[in-house]
Formats: sequence, C-alpha cells, structure tokens
Amino acid sequence: MKRIVLLGASGSIGDQVLDIVEDHPDQYVIIGLSVGRRVEKLAAYLRSHDVPYACVQYEEDRKALEVEFPNTVFFSGDEGLKKMSELQCDLFINALVGFAGVVPTLTAIKTGNTIALANKETLVAAGELVNQALQENNVKILPIDSEHSAIFQCIQNAPSSDVKRLIITASGGSFRDRTREELANVTVKDALSHPNWSMGSKITIDSATMMNKGFEVIEAHYLFDLPYTSIDTIMHRESIIHSMVEFKDHSVLAQLGQADMRIPIQVALSHPERLEMQRDNRLDLLKVGTLHFEELSHERYPLLALAYRVGKAKGALPCVMNAANEVAVSRFLKGEISFLDIERIVIGMVDAYENHPITSVDQLIQIDQETREKALLF
Ligand code: NAD
Ligand code: MG
Repeated sequence: MKRIVLLGASGSIGDQVLDIVEDHPDQYVIIGLSVGRRVEKLAAYLRSHDVPYACVQYEEDRKALEVEFPNTVFFSGDEGLKKMSELQCDLFINALVGFAGVVPTLTAIKTGNTIALANKETLVAAGELVNQALQENNVKILPIDSEHSAIFQCIQNAPSSDVKRLIITASGGSFRDRTREELANVTVKDALSHPNWSMGSKITIDSATMMNKGFEVIEAHYLFDLPYTSIDTIMHRESIIHSMVEFKDHSVLAQLGQADMRIPIQVALSHPERLEMQRDNRLDLLKVGTLHFEELSHERYPLLALAYRVGKAKGALPCVMNAANEVAVSRFLKGEISFLDIERIVIGMVDAYENHPITSVDQLIQIDQETREKALLF
C-alpha cells in the first residue's frame, strides 16, 4: 500500500487523484488531505474514510471539523499545509494552485518524500531552490502535468545529453481561433470555455493567455535539466499527443492518449509500475482521424515569449511573473479588468523589476507578497 498525502483535494486535479485512489483500494491509502474553502467536500470524504490528518484554510472551519471527527488531527492555514508536508509518506501529491504550493513542496522535499507535482507554479517561482533541495535530499519529482508526464515517459532514464529537443504541445486554449484584435472584448465566460480540457479556473485562463504554456516551458527546464534553446512548443488542436522528445539521432518519441488527466495522474501514482486503468478512456485513433500541428506564434502570444525571457533570466523574475499573473488572473475572473489587461500587468511588472539572485525561500515569499500588492493597483 502506498500511503498518500494529498494537498488541494477539493480541486480539479485533487478530485481526479481521489478517483484513481478509489479505483485501486488495494494499492493506495490516503493518510492526509487538504482542502481550501470547500470544507463540505472534506467532511464527506472523512465520513466514509479514516484519515489521520487533514488541513483546511480557515481556523473556524478547523474548529467545527474537530468536533465532528475526533479521530482526525486537523491543521489550518499556511502553517497547516507545512505541517502536512512534514508527514512521512510514500507519495506526497501537490495539487494546490499557485504560489501557495511552494513552501509545501520544499518542505516535503526536506521530509524526504517522493513528490507527484501538479502545482507547476512551484517550479516556475522557485525552480532553482527546488532543484537544489532535490539534490541535497536525494528526492524525486514525478510530474502530473500531462505534457511533462508525456516527456517523462518518453525520456525514461536517457541522459540529457542524448536529448536534442523537447516539443511541448499546446491545444491553443479558448481563443486559439481569434486574432489579437478580437481579444479586446472577450468575456470571462468565453475565456473559461476550454475546447479540450475541464480544469480549475486559473489554469483555464492561463491556457487562454498561453501563460500556461510558458510556465510549462520553465517547468520542463527544471524537471529535465535542458536549456531553453532545447525546449520548443507547437500547437496541436486535438490534444492527443501530449508532448514529444527528439533525441540526438533524430528519433522522435511521442506519448498519446485521450485528454483525461486521470491518465497522467495514474502514471505518477503507480510509478515505477503501471496499473490497469479502470476508466473508459482508451484512445481510438480512427475516431480522431487526423492530427494537426501549427506554429505557436510568440507575437500572437506575448506571455509565451515573456516566459522564455524570464526563464532564461532566472533569479527573482520568474517569481515576479508568477505573482503578477496570479493577481491579474484573479482580477480578470472578478470582472475588474479586461482579458488583455492580464498581459499588460504581467509584462509591465516584469519589465519594471530590477532582477537579482534568490538565496532563500523567505526572500521569495517577500517578493511574491510585494509583487501581489503592486499588481492589485497596476
Ligand atoms: P483548482 O483551483 O481546481 O484546485 C486548487 C486546489 O488548491 C483546491 O483544493 C483549493 O482549495 C486549494 N487551494 C488553493 N489555494 C489554497 C491556499 N492558499 N490554501 C489552501 N488550499 C488552497 O486547481 P486545479 O485545476 O486542480 O490545478 C491545481 C494545479 O495543477 C495547478 O498548479 C495547475 O496549474 C495544475 N494542473 C492542473 C490541470 C488540470 O487539469 N486541472 C492540468 C495540469 C496541471
Ligand atoms: Mg499541461
């Protein structure tokens, strides 16, 4: 039995992790769960499962749950997420969204836990600190993001010197068929209707701006130890090929599958083995028929171009870009700013920042906080 700690259990990825766990009751047991505000979801799970540790975002929720579930130890807030990350387990799954995932990932690495990572913002904002901690603690990260799961499966244990290029595929997001001029008046509802994937709202907006693909380039740089010049992106509308690896002998390996996150989630959970999939999500290429590939233009998607520039610059800039983006997306979702204001805020805040190296997580937390405050008014 693998003992699992899952952070972000009430989200889109968290939900699907619980699906895979339920599908294999003889393989996995949840020993710790966290949710944000959706306490009812946690309570429902605790009514049917014995879970020794749980965490909620707010203190008042913790007090109420402690009365109903005396056999579970409850934590709350950021400090609670840190406590959850100190629990010894066989697999620590980070399905939080945003910078909130950084300290839990770093803490779980220090605890020595193998990590299954959905929270890409961890690697965007803190990639250098994370890789240093992974080395020091001899810990591994297993990717959940579909593109990185694809690369992980294709690359196996090949040394990075055997790899010529990673080709990260992109569906194109909600606005792939609109020109930049047509983006001026798009609504939140338009932006939230992704053609291929059903996901949390933040990543759905990040997919529409292509910030998500930029984040994935940075994520791939840190996961697979390759320079940015060896990481390409390509638009692939069908989301059937989840990414590719070109080796130095010009052989290209691709991973294919239906657009269902439960596949890469199960790959990460069962690694290094494979388990029978219990869901109806087999790929039928005859139904798909044709696969398309198009250029992903850096002019059409300036946040993709920005991510390359910021990734190469390293230091504090990736954290600034991430924080500015989190605030801009949240303001857009609240209807406070227009879609194109997201780009304006993120690019403007990166360009206004005097970059410098990062030496500690506390420094990173401070930069994240300061950037958020400024981005609210930018
Ligand atoms: P979501 O918004 O659906 O869920 C996020 C979870 O994090 C929720 O449980 C929420 O309560 C919790 N959370 C957020 N902020 C918190 C805080 N401050 N304290 C405590 N809990 C907090 O998001 P999602 O779509 O499941 O995405 C999760 C991560 O996985 C993101 O980093 C995303 O980029 C990545 N990812 C998601 C998908 C997908 O299909 N949804 C695919 C690839 C990668
Ligand atoms: Mg992805």
